[in-house]
Amino acid sequence: MMIVPGRSKKAQGASLSMVPIFLLVLCVMGSMVLVAHRAAMRQEAFELDREKRQLAQSLGFEAENLLAGVSRDEGLGELFQAQRSKEQAERLLTAFNRRQATDYSVMINKSDGQIIAESGEIETFPARSSYIRALIDASRMRGLDATTIGIGRESRVMQDGQSVLSLATMPIGRSIIFATARPLGSAGLRRLSTMLAIPNLRLVPGLSDAKTSYAIPGLNGTEHLSLVWNPSRTAAETLADLAIFGLIASIVIAVIALFLFRRMRHSTEAILMREAKASHEARHDPLSGLPNRAVFCEALAENIEDLPNRDSNIAVLLLDLDKFKDVNDTYGHAAGDKVIVDFGNRVRALLRQTDVIARLGGDEFAVLQSGIRTHLESNRLAQAIIDAANRPFQLEGASAHIGVTIGISFAPDDGMDVATILRAADTALYRAKNEGRNRFALYEHRMTEAERIRKLVDDELRGAIDRDELTLVYQPQVHADSGKIASVEALVRWRHPTHGLISPATFISAAEERGLIVPLGEWVMRRACQDAGRWPGLRVGVNVSAIQFRQANFVELVGRIMTEYKIEPGRLEVELTEGVLVEDADQAEAAMMDLRSIGVKLALDDFGTGYSSLIYLRRFAFDKIKIDKSFLDSMEATGESAILVHSVVHLGRALGLEVTAEGVENEEQRRFLQAVGCHFLQGYLFSKPVSADAIDEMLRTERGESAVLPVVGPPSAITPNAA
Ligand code: C2E
Ligand code: CA
Ligand code: CA
Repeated sequence: MMIVPGRSKKAQGASLSMVPIFLLVLCVMGSMVLVAHRAAMRQEAFELDREKRQLAQSLGFEAENLLAGVSRDEGLGELFQAQRSKEQAERLLTAFNRRQATDYSVMINKSDGQIIAESGEIETFPARSSYIRALIDASRMRGLDATTIGIGRESRVMQDGQSVLSLATMPIGRSIIFATARPLGSAGLRRLSTMLAIPNLRLVPGLSDAKTSYAIPGLNGTEHLSLVWNPSRTAAETLADLAIFGLIASIVIAVIALFLFRRMRHSTEAILMREAKASHEARHDPLSGLPNRAVFCEALAENIEDLPNRDSNIAVLLLDLDKFKDVNDTYGHAAGDKVIVDFGNRVRALLRQTDVIARLGGDEFAVLQSGIRTHLESNRLAQAIIDAANRPFQLEGASAHIGVTIGISFAPDDGMDVATILRAADTALYRAKNEGRNRFALYEHRMTEAERIRKLVDDELRGAIDRDELTLVYQPQVHADSGKIASVEALVRWRHPTHGLISPATFISAAEERGLIVPLGEWVMRRACQDAGRWPGLRVGVNVSAIQFRQANFVELVGRIMTEYKIEPGRLEVELTEGVLVEDADQAEAAMMDLRSIGVKLALDDFGTGYSSLIYLRRFAFDKIKIDKSFLDSMEATGESAILVHSVVHLGRALGLEVTAEGVENEEQRRFLQAVGCHFLQGYLFSKPVSADAIDEMLRTERGESAVLPVVGPPSAITPNAA
């Protein structure tokens, strides 16, 4: 029923925005894992490569070590010297072995590869000689020397299949090669393992499948030993380490992301809420929470647009509360607000889900009823709304009674656009108001002239004062005897830019109903007093409506205006009707006394149209009575009125009042009124109401010439029946 912005949709949007953040975190973490994995794999491969290279080198390095020892040995020279004696040489070799902690050393004749001398634990290397020989043989093909055998670069599986022999060779002199060897037993392996930081290095027979293995070919090329070790740091291990770090990092990132996200969502939500609130406020009446005019018009436009697709009609009901101003005036604005809210709720309870209610402003509401098939449905709803409005409204310590007037229009019957439909409903509302309020009316295509003008007053009179569309005309009251102008009565006119001159008879009562009579009356009073300055000594009559007269500050206002325009006492005459006196006679009396005290004359207007005129005459201190035109009108038809006029004039005179007859249109009337002793006459016979300039002209003529006014003749056929 109420149109609210899609807040939930936006909130959903806010929660959706979490997804990209988590996807981002996931991507970052995923790439971290990938990078880590790659790095670990590379590290592992690199490490493996290093270990293998180092092993390959180190097996030779062992030999180099030996050789380095040998090269620094003091006994090398002796050894060289002693080479011709096998025993001596072997002794020296033994000593060398002991000193250098080598297991085996040998001297070889460079030219034929024969062993000159050897020393060492031959049993450890049962095949050493054949191995060495094979080595030498192989080398000899390339020319036997230390270089070709390879210094510190030889390591081969020995036939025991358990250990590796490190062999160091170097040339001594021109004909001898000196070689020395040390097996890599478990102690050697441990040493190597520590030195190279290759954990748990050990020998296994055969070729190993393990990645961390280094094959050492046997002498015969088929027999192998494998050096295996525990991988120093497998990728899995690295990854496990990284995983812990990654986990911690992920948790930190996730927490930060969550924190940021929550903050973001918080501020997003705040912004969305602010937005939603602002948009709600822009589209809703803050007091009742009901949609406003803009929303209503949107909904109406949408419904009209959709009409061709449906076989139903829509109705617009314009609601205007009756007596709402009284509630405000009597119980205060808080009470008025409560009535508005309660009324809105009562109407809402009568509507269907698809209907729309809006508050257009003040005490005006609108209802959009869609999907109706007959006007009866709208009539029923309107009656239900009226019944709801007529139930008392509970206020603090009081209950308020109001009513509601409703105008109804239909689409497509009364129009197919928002403006037309609303105007039609407004016209119907107008009619309902004029028919007496607290009822509903349907729009009818034709509208009476009176309705159009009353509506015009409603819509435009307020602005008319500001736009200076009002003007005053003056109608003279002449002395019945001399025909000279005694006073003028100010009568207001509305010069409407399109409708031309509008008579006060049509808009005064509408202005009273709409509360516009007070500013209008003030304007008239001011302008009349201003114009009075042009006619010294002439009395100026001003019509004052009952509502205006009852304003608390009325007398004060008149006093102020009189001072402002320097109006002497007795120059201003206020014309009042009986209506002024009916409601609060005491207050009226007091105000009248006050007016008199500031020199204002009082005339009882339209005398004879009320019902207890004589009572007023006795009680209230009038200076003048103005006999209503209707008397003269009926005088022509019946003689009775003539008698009445006669007695009224007599009575007035007896009470010491001045008597004016209004609406004098012909000579007979004038003669009669003069004959019965009426003091003043006013009517078309003398002059229609005219502009101030025209009055100037008349006064000038009067002063210069003897008679512009008709000559007073003998009494007419209408004579008062003296019975
Ligand atoms: P009213 O006070 O009785 O004013 C006399 C009305 O009779 C005027 O109509 C005047 O033009 C009209 N009239 C005068 N002589 C004749 C005549 O010989 N024959 C006919 N047929 N009519 C004549 P108007 O000016 O249309 O005013 C109508 C009513 O509007 C006035 O009746 C008065 O009650 C009210 N009115 C006019 N001006 C004001 C104003 O400034 N303030 C207030 N509160 N009411 C005003
Ligand atoms: Ca009058
Ligand atoms: Ca009158």
